[in-house]
Amino acid sequence: MEMSNRITDEVNKMSQADTSTEAMYQLLGISPEVYQFGREVEAHLTERFEEIDRTAEYNQLKVVHAMQKNRISAEHFNPSSGYGYNDIGRDDLEKVYADAFHTETALVRPQIACGTHALAVALAGNLRPGDELLSISGKPYDTLEEVIGIRPSNGSLAEYGISYAQVDLLEDGSFDFESIKKAVRPNTRLVEIQRSKGYQTRPTLSVAKIGEAIRFVKSINPDIICMVDNCYGEFVERREPSDEGADLVVGSLIKNPGGGLAPVGGYIAGKKEYVENAAFRLTSPGLGKEVGASLGVMRSFYQGFFMAPTVTAGALKGAVYAANIYEKLGFKVVPNSTESRHDIIQAVEFGFPEGMIEFCRGIQAAAPVDSYVTPEPWAMPGYDSDVIMAAGAFVQGSSIELSADGPVKPPYAVYFQGGLTWEHAKLGILMSLQKLYEKNLVRF
Ligand SMILES: *Cc1c(COP(=O)(O)O)cnc(C)c1O
Repeated sequence: MEMSNRITDEVNKMSQADTSTEAMYQLLGISPEVYQFGREVEAHLTERFEEIDRTAEYNQLKVVHAMQKNRISAEHFNPSSGYGYNDIGRDDLEKVYADAFHTETALVRPQIACGTHALAVALAGNLRPGDELLSISGKPYDTLEEVIGIRPSNGSLAEYGISYAQVDLLEDGSFDFESIKKAVRPNTRLVEIQRSKGYQTRPTLSVAKIGEAIRFVKSINPDIICMVDNCYGEFVERREPSDEGADLVVGSLIKNPGGGLAPVGGYIAGKKEYVENAAFRLTSPGLGKEVGASLGVMRSFYQGFFMAPTVTAGALKGAVYAANIYEKLGFKVVPNSTESRHDIIQAVEFGFPEGMIEFCRGIQAAAPVDSYVTPEPWAMPGYDSDVIMAAGAFVQGSSIELSADGPVKPPYAVYFQGGLTWEHAKLGILMSLQKLYEKNLVRF
């Protein structure tokens, strides 16, 4: 009797120990000091997290409403092949996107290879020889330099006689309205605005600010097409740039709107005429949106879009948590610990290479896939310094999944984004801190 009581006690104790969260973190390699520091930081984030959850709740309802309105059913998930004529899964998904973004129509396709491709198709479909493209948020995302022809490239818009002009943001990250006014010319056909900072240290633009800029451009010439590169911004706020007058919003499905489930793809949502122009470029003049088999990806597109608001919220919490952790340790973080958020990217400036390298190693070590590999800086084509990258993703290159990267050069900043769940983003950040702690690069 006594014996069996003792055994029961021990079993109880063990199972209690086994189910403590701290023990689980220890099992994964997080030391008590790191865990404790993380807890202290997290304790102050309750209100921020509640606000993020409220936005996710709103956006969840928005997506469900769009799906219900379009009477989505099991047959929408059936694959089509060949030409893909009358693919209702594909066509109604485009209606769901259009309803969620409050646009006339959308193009949402697995044939769009990535975000750059979606942007290139939207631009090339809507610009004609002699037109000018004007960027009013400074230098566009790196890969667009070759699309536009800022860096000479085969097949660029420049080769087709489309010129390019640019107005930089002001020092404080706001639009330079005076210079925009001067830069708009009679042949300015399309204005591009990039919501996210990408790999720059400027602030990300809020939807409200983007709206102001669009109204300003339209006041100069209402016929100018206003296109927003919406990458990393979807579902971070309650409103999207299309709610503020953008004629086209463009993004990647292996970022926020794919919810981590879309294995490939991009979207272009907006005014019918402009989206159709893009479709004529994506497939072919005359064919446009009518062709394009969905090849069995529809269920993951729908389900990913359904998950996207909460997945984005998880990534956002991770970004806020990382900002607070690393700011408290004395590093510069962009955005800072208290700023409002308009995308899911977090930059941390270490000021020395080991910091960013250990950070990336921690992110890698926390991944569900490829956790055993060690990221090393390497000379990646197209970059003028070594680059380090950490990613252990279910979908190759997916940056809605937890990932980090950056060029190994001053100011030694690492760009961190994603996390399909807040719990995993948190593990990744604690693991990054663990690696820095083990190398004596941080002190609590
Ligand atoms: C990711 C990104 C792109 C390009 O997307 P890819 O899928 O990498 O081609 C364009 N613009 C911004 C702001 C991005 O973040």
